Amino acid sequence: MIRIAIANQKGGVGKTTTAINLATGLAATGLRVLLVDLDPQGNASTGLGIGRTQRDQSSYELLMGGCALDEAVIRTAVPKLDLIPATQDLSGAEIELIDYEERTHRLQRVLDEAQPGRWDICLIDCPPSLGLLTINALVAAQSLLVPLQCEFFALEGLSQLLQTVDRIRGRFNPDLSIMGVALTMYDRRNRLTDQVADDVRACLGDLVFSTVIPRNVRLSEAPSHGMPALIYDIRCSGSEAYMRLARELIARLPRQEVAA
Ligand code: ADP
Ligand code: MG
Repeated sequence: MIRIAIANQKGGVGKTTTAINLATGLAATGLRVLLVDLDPQGNASTGLGIGRTQRDQSSYELLMGGCALDEAVIRTAVPKLDLIPATQDLSGAEIELIDYEERTHRLQRVLDEAQPGRWDICLIDCPPSLGLLTINALVAAQSLLVPLQCEFFALEGLSQLLQTVDRIRGRFNPDLSIMGVALTMYDRRNRLTDQVADDVRACLGDLVFSTVIPRNVRLSEAPSHGMPALIYDIRCSGSEAYMRLARELIARLPRQEVAA
């Protein structure tokens, strides 16, 4: 199972939208997908229709050693897509984990428990910070996917994230790779977003996925219906883009990781 962290310490850049719809797109190609909601806001859980009362065991209990992996996994309405939900308890984890041994490796240990072959791919939706939760995700992951909003300060935040990646490589996870940068909320009619997209490509080259996620109202409506946009409106431009991104990501995976 290849594990991919979806991270960017900025809020509102499209991490959760990408996590939900990329997970759904990957599942639609036949891969078995596990999505880990690692944000105390629990938006990925809500967006997949998993209400608060259904989140008995969550990523919080898992990290704190309060339950086993299987107990926290919920099947979603999307075929082949399972979820480990998040609750607000998780906001305490950053502090509570400080007293734990190997506090940076909690998620890795938990995911190592997964039965071999149960899932092909695991996506981890990170909170908007570079705190202990995101560090757990970057330690547990083989690879990182960065959603980058097409706006003026996009690159500035990115250098901080890349520094963190370097530090994680140096201390904990030397093989952590960058799967790619996905440009989100692209608006063709806005010259600034065009300019930002060009600058990011000039700076990062092939690291940037060719698929660009457009600004699309269907993507923002879907979570209030508790479904991925790819189910809510499979034909909208946002859904089509996430389906393309899923295929592009599969093409970037090391061959031995995904047999399906
Ligand atoms: P993050 O997880 O990085 O905080 P979200 O995925 O929650 O970001 O997105 C922030 C807000 O922007 C949400 O209301 C979401 O519905 C909306 N949004 C995200 N991507 C798009 C898009 N491509 N087009 C329109 N709205 C989007
Ligand atoms: Mg989010």
